[in-house]
Amino acid sequence: MTDTSTTATDFDDLLEANRRYAETDFATGGFDGVAHAGVAIVTCMDSRIDPLRMVGLAPGDAKIFRNPGGRVTSNALEALVLGVHLLGVRRVLVVPHTRCAMASASEQELRERVGASAGQDASWQAFHVIEDQRGALLADVRAVRSHPLIPDTVAVGGFLYDVDSGLLERVV
Ligand SMILES: [Zn+2]
Repeated sequence: MTDTSTTATDFDDLLEANRRYAETDFATGGFDGVAHAGVAIVTCMDSRIDPLRMVGLAPGDAKIFRNPGGRVTSNALEALVLGVHLLGVRRVLVVPHTRCAMASASEQELRERVGASAGQDASWQAFHVIEDQRGALLADVRAVRSHPLIPDTVAVGGFLYDVDSGLLERVV
């Protein structure tokens, strides 16, 4: 689709695929919203990451929270508190990844690239780039572990996902 304006047919291919999905692949009808494997994953929005399959899980098993960089933001903490107390989460994985744009570009560089694409000034837009990915991961795991509403009985681990090998490395 090269037309940049929106039309009523913009999503037709996806809706068609959705009907096929509902007929053939969909298996979680009637499920509750509990994380059946007791797992929550905070990870990046990167399209190379399949957060369920990379740890052998399936729909219904886990709570997934994604954002650029896979950071433990205040919004992520909200999700984890809900997950732990209301949705059966007992283990939390924080999973940034190799070759992440949020950890390899500078704030200035991202603003320039977005500005060039948008054809207007983007210097006011924050992207929260990560200068020290491992250091950020340590701080993020600490933020989960030290949250007053997340008990010590919840296991919290920080991992780096290698987008070229598919392997997780435990960092903390
Ligand atoms: Zn990323």
